[in-house]
Amino acid sequence: MISLVDGYLGRIMLDCQAHLTGAVADYIPELAAVDPGGFGLSMCVHDGHVYSHGDSAAAFTIQSISKPLTYALALGRRGFATIDAAIGVEPSGEAFNEISVDQRRRPKNPMINAGAILAASMLLPQEPTVSSDTVDAAFADVVEFYSACAGRRLGLDERVYASESATGARNRAIAYMLVSFGALQTDPDAAIDLYFRQCSLQVTTDDLAVIGCTIANGGVNPRTGRRVLDQAVAQRVLSVMTTCGMYDGAGDWVTRVGLPAKSGVGGGILAILPGQLGIGVYSPLLDEHGNSVRGVDTCRHLSTDLGLHMFNVA
Ligand code: GLN
Repeated sequence: MISLVDGYLGRIMLDCQAHLTGAVADYIPELAAVDPGGFGLSMCVHDGHVYSHGDSAAAFTIQSISKPLTYALALGRRGFATIDAAIGVEPSGEAFNEISVDQRRRPKNPMINAGAILAASMLLPQEPTVSSDTVDAAFADVVEFYSACAGRRLGLDERVYASESATGARNRAIAYMLVSFGALQTDPDAAIDLYFRQCSLQVTTDDLAVIGCTIANGGVNPRTGRRVLDQAVAQRVLSVMTTCGMYDGAGDWVTRVGLPAKSGVGGGILAILPGQLGIGVYSPLLDEHGNSVRGVDTCRHLSTDLGLHMFNVA
């Protein structure tokens, strides 16, 4: 069984290998300098077995794939009522860093930056000034949670974090806009600092596959057996990943791949088949939405060939 799946995953990688279009993210030098040829694929199935191919042990920054995790953590810490009053669940159809809110001046969803920054802010004391020790403590909580989902301790890419902090004018503008709307009720600089740190955590495709399978399992890590999030939170996260996870490419993704997913500008994609498996893909060349070109292609192949589309009625 294992060799059959391995043979199949290896073949998919070969099929997608030549697809070298797109461009690496270049808004910070650390991302611009990555090897554009990097390509990894991992799949974790419900018994916790991980099938690993290509550069599956290569570390890259999680970037926006952190958004569903911090949203899950904020839901667990603050409850649905508080989080839903602050952050919507409607697809925005806009770019990830769009300066956008709904008619109630809430970020439209937690998968775009506005909603993700607000979700991170909800992990901090809701006070106008927050000490750096408090941000450190909130970040320790974030690392602990992401690591429990991945089943191993994750670490920070200090250089990416320093660069994100040095250049993040757009994200700061979004945070301050949310303050002006009364939506963000903590120190915006502390919220942004926490957001930049979460984006700069390093993962591999093996990690993404295990994180995905943990969510697929309703919140129980299949390798450690530990419950790390509530079932209701897992269901909510899968729902917003389905409608909003691929930004303005979400409709095309759901139609063609049909799996809840989240991409990051580091080149990773996390895709999940609820109840069954988690998939992690890495390839840093991105399309115009900021989604990995070969990552999308690989997921399309997997979904079609293995019949993984969640609305598969065959
Ligand atoms: N750090 C990036 C940002 O906030 C993450 C964006 C992404 O992965 N799409 O702009």
